[in-house]
Amino acid sequence: MQVTCLGATRTVTGSCFLIENERLRFLVDCGLFQGSREMEKRNVSLSRYRPARLQYILLTHAHIDHCGLIPRIVKDGFRGKILCTQATFELCQIMLRDSAHIQEMDAEWQTRKNARSGQKPVEPLYTLEDAEACFKYFAPVEREADIPLSPDIRCRFRNAGHILGASFLEIFFQEQGREGKVVFSGDLGRQDALIVGEKEIVEEADYLFIESTYGDRLHKSLADSRTELLAAIHEGIKYGEKILIPAFAVARTQEVLFTLREFLEQGQMPSIPVFLDSPLAISATEIFARHPEYFNAPTVRLMTAGKAPFDLPQLEYSRTPEESMAINHREGPGIIIAASGMCNAGRIKHHLKHNLWRPGAQVVIIGFQAEGTLGRSLVNGAKKVRIFREEVAVRAKIHTIGGFSAHADQQELLNWLGHFKNPGLQVSVIHGEESTSLAFAEVIQKMFPFRVQVPHWLETLSLAPPEIRPAGLTPETEEILALFAALEGRVQGLKDYLKGITGLKKARVREIKALLKKTEKDLEGMMK
Ligand SMILES: [Zn+2]
Repeated sequence: MQVTCLGATRTVTGSCFLIENERLRFLVDCGLFQGSREMEKRNVSLSRYRPARLQYILLTHAHIDHCGLIPRIVKDGFRGKILCTQATFELCQIMLRDSAHIQEMDAEWQTRKNARSGQKPVEPLYTLEDAEACFKYFAPVEREADIPLSPDIRCRFRNAGHILGASFLEIFFQEQGREGKVVFSGDLGRQDALIVGEKEIVEEADYLFIESTYGDRLHKSLADSRTELLAAIHEGIKYGEKILIPAFAVARTQEVLFTLREFLEQGQMPSIPVFLDSPLAISATEIFARHPEYFNAPTVRLMTAGKAPFDLPQLEYSRTPEESMAINHREGPGIIIAASGMCNAGRIKHHLKHNLWRPGAQVVIIGFQAEGTLGRSLVNGAKKVRIFREEVAVRAKIHTIGGFSAHADQQELLNWLGHFKNPGLQVSVIHGEESTSLAFAEVIQKMFPFRVQVPHWLETLSLAPPEIRPAGLTPETEEILALFAALEGRVQGLKDYLKGITGLKKARVREIKALLKKTEKDLEGMMK
């Protein structure tokens, strides 16, 4: 079986892995690339996915960097089944419609710009119609159930503790009468996540693809983050200014609402207006409230006691642009929760433009801020930023609070890795900025006997079930055999890579031949 890394390698977006053997081709996730223009170019060349020849997409969760290319791939011919949990399906319906709307707006803007310089109009990556057309391919599955994909491959969705419905995947594959197992972590949640249940653990696997979004960092504790959030709110109240919370519509928004409700209940915060200024976040909150079966025990108890975990008496929903704009005319302190989480789009940009220059205003950054985004500039302490082609001075206080992250931090990832028992486990570190993934790989290498690598974009890895070894081998021999197995996989990967290359230069051929001869000699030397 082969895995080709089509995305989320040495970067955080575009999660997608193509898995294939003679009978079956399927994807694990089908995410949108976001960030630089170079990165976004990857969204349009899907020929290597060969959508019409894919039988399945196994979808870990509804974040757009994991599901955002699905409408496009369906448009390009995918007719298989998209397997995911029920909550993921429901969240995808709002996320993908929203994403389609953004694609249409972007294309419209670019088309107008092109027209002025006499260039051709631009087609959106996909339209709302394309998004609507993809929903009929979704087939929700139960977590923990064994799902056969073909006579020799089956899979299982398990709780990843990240956002509502998020799962990691266990994939079992048979080859020559032996069984191998590969795990795709999807995105892993924190220990003691605020709302959703704690992630499951895995003890047995031969291969693991693990996310590393926060692979080089530790989060502050949730308790510290709560204290900081409360302090920011009180500071905003003291100056009579707004407290802006840029938040991802799914998960982060609900965690903030959950926390604000607790502050109110415990009398820690006066009853100032709270605006949820995001139609997407409003819909996501409704989906959360419909699915307590994914919640952790304390949140379920809360609901059993008749409380609505995400509801505040003074909460105001802004669905229309007019309602959103009206917030700017409201005097006095208030909390505004709006998307996008990285401040690079959405209604939060308007609120930032109106408030960033005001001393006493508070901006509370609670999520990951990718390189190149407005949110990242604020975190990095920019004194001036450009919003809607206007220069805006940053006089507001910027708070960076890490504890509300829906992602495990380095220690939590290592704790989860620590449950894997097989010393021959081969780990591929994915879904992190390049330096983060490399740093995390180094830490794993130091702490565990596992073989670790950080794959490149489009790299193909060969996966084989473990050899059945005679009983009574020493752990040292086991370890050496595992290294050999990893080497074999690497050799296969290189062979496949070479097969795909045309016109190899003569000098390069000589170089490769020399290297192979040297490797052969080294191997011979090992037997002495
Ligand atoms: Zn995610």
